Amino acid sequence: MGLFDSIYAALACPVCRSVKEREIQTKKGPCLMLRLEVGDTIEPFFYGDYWIEEEWDCDDCRKKMPEESQWHKAFIHCINGLIVEVTPEKPPPSDRTWETAMKRSKNPPLWLRRLDAVKAEMKTVRFPRTAQEGFRQCADLSETALGWFRQSVRDGHPRASAEELEKERCLLVARFSAAEARRIVKWKKERGRYFRG
Ligand SMILES: [Zn+2]
Repeated sequence: MGLFDSIYAALACPVCRSVKEREIQTKKGPCLMLRLEVGDTIEPFFYGDYWIEEEWDCDDCRKKMPEESQWHKAFIHCINGLIVEVTPEKPPPSDRTWETAMKRSKNPPLWLRRLDAVKAEMKTVRFPRTAQEGFRQCADLSETALGWFRQSVRDGHPRASAEELEKERCLLVARFSAAEARRIVKWKKERGRYFRG
């Protein structure tokens, strides 16, 4: 069969009724011998809601069956490339196949076309490789931010003493905290509106 990827899902055999994890091989992914399941993503990512139609055979009864009745259908339901479900029945709507998703993708939405710009920018960023390195970057960033903050307080009060500057800094921090608290209250309200499950 050459290279492929495998999607694993628990499915009932329509012949012997055994329910177990099945290997569903597909050539519609990157063909890197990946082991995928619900919750994983499968490239190429197409925009929208679509399903991949594949077949699998049952370990328990394959040898007792003639070749033509060994194969059972499985539908791998994807949303923007995320595998959300593997089912023996065609998920509705029935025209949203991998093939139509692929054809439609030649006209991708604007945000998807801009992904290259995002990717180019990401390439210029060096992300931390270890927790320690990440922690150090965080500490550096907050030290830099604090430095800028102190500098801007000094610039705003050119004739103030060190004590006055410190007092002004504390006042500003207190105002930031109050604003943050108000923001959290507002966010919780908005979150309730948009993400209520
Ligand atoms: Zn079976």
